[in-house]
Amino acid sequence: MKVIELLEFLNREEKEIILEQAFCHKPKGCFKAKLITPTDLSPLFPYIRSRTKVLFFKPEEILEFKWQNQGTFYRVLLDRNSITWGIVSGYEEAMNVWKNLSLFLKETLLNIDQIEPNSQPVKRATALEIYKWLPKTNCRDCGENSCLAFAAKMSIGEADLSDCPHLKDQDLKTLEKLV
Ligand code: SF4
Repeated sequence: MKVIELLEFLNREEKEIILEQAFCHKPKGCFKAKLITPTDLSPLFPYIRSRTKVLFFKPEEILEFKWQNQGTFYRVLLDRNSITWGIVSGYEEAMNVWKNLSLFLKETLLNIDQIEPNSQPVKRATALEIYKWLPKTNCRDCGENSCLAFAAKMSIGEADLSDCPHLKDQDLKTLEKLV
């Protein structure tokens, strides 16, 4: 890992954030924000994995985790040469999240000697595992034709729990641990 190069990248104020259209039904807009990194990030994955709620981890390839920024949860996906996070409503929110996310990545990088790495893979929750805790009414308020379709979108990170307004408290708590 080219530490200096990565630090320079994380320190830069002007970032070239790419906004990609994402699935969701929020009126403000739904995007995934993406940055291409100048160096391979994968050596950092086991250290970030130790410090976050990980959703999916394939060592040396992909790390996906939950990131809380000012009370809102985002999914962050790192692959070897890019960082993607969302769902955001536009450039302003994307920049706001990046400000804190880059600080976290920088802090991890600078304290790597004090963090116990964890290289254990993590599997993503399947659509059926998620479906089990949904209301199963197929009401379509989330914009999907059925709860199963919603679960399928959730399992690949294309939908968010907040899109279903009918979850019971206990089921919501279970799902929050699962996805
Ligand atoms: S809003 Fe919830 S209950 Fe209704 S279809 Fe979507 S997932 Fe099912």
